[in-house]
Amino acid sequence: MFDYNIFIQGFPGKSSTHGGLGWSTVALLSQNDENIIIDVGSFGVRPLLLEKLHDKGLSPDDITMILLTHTHWDHCVNWTMFPNATIVVGRVDMEWALNEPAGGWHVPELYVKELNRSPQTKLVDHLEEVVPGIVAHQTKGHTPGHLTYTVDNGDYDLIFCGDAAKNRAELLSSDADMTLNLSESQGSIDYLWKLWKEKPENILIPGHDIPMKLINGKPMYLHKREADLQCWFSDTLEDYTTIELEQKSVFTK
Ligand SMILES: [Zn+2]
Repeated sequence: MFDYNIFIQGFPGKSSTHGGLGWSTVALLSQNDENIIIDVGSFGVRPLLLEKLHDKGLSPDDITMILLTHTHWDHCVNWTMFPNATIVVGRVDMEWALNEPAGGWHVPELYVKELNRSPQTKLVDHLEEVVPGIVAHQTKGHTPGHLTYTVDNGDYDLIFCGDAAKNRAELLSSDADMTLNLSESQGSIDYLWKLWKEKPENILIPGHDIPMKLINGKPMYLHKREADLQCWFSDTLEDYTTIELEQKSVFTK
């Protein structure tokens, strides 16, 4: 049994004035001496990640494995924080990312190049068992080699689907924003639904949303959303405005 913790909650949104927020899910799976992080977020979360690890009595050196769902900047750049971890990435995604022209909007080209030549990197394929109980599934569309990871936890599976379905709205509508191939994304969303329905207690964790369970066939959030903006709209640093970014109507416990 893996103990799982959501270190950083994914957030289902973007900004019309400031582009992609890149607020993606970062989760820790622990079992005995194994500490596995699924997607490592972007630069902005580094201090938070260190804090969350510290709260668990861990340091970056204790992380044994990183599972990357795909090679987008908001999911992969922090692999450099974990010197002892095996970095698992999809073979197809890596090949694709390395061939993307520099200066695009989604691949951190220099980080991907380094990752490709790092001895830490392990390339995996569709349906490969990464460690006992954890299987990689190719769920393309958002990127050509995107992976979902299923974690067999006995009575239920954890399904880390990254950006194959970024949020609840994509799962429910079977539609996808920011995808390289919409019909492939729709096929991947169908595939996710099949994985999700395999056991009634399965938990699905999207790349930009909160973990969900199916209750009467409908995805319900398992946690309260925690997302805010702290803004200096006044004349002093002490006097800032906190804007909560939450929505409560589909929360369950
Ligand atoms: Zn992405």
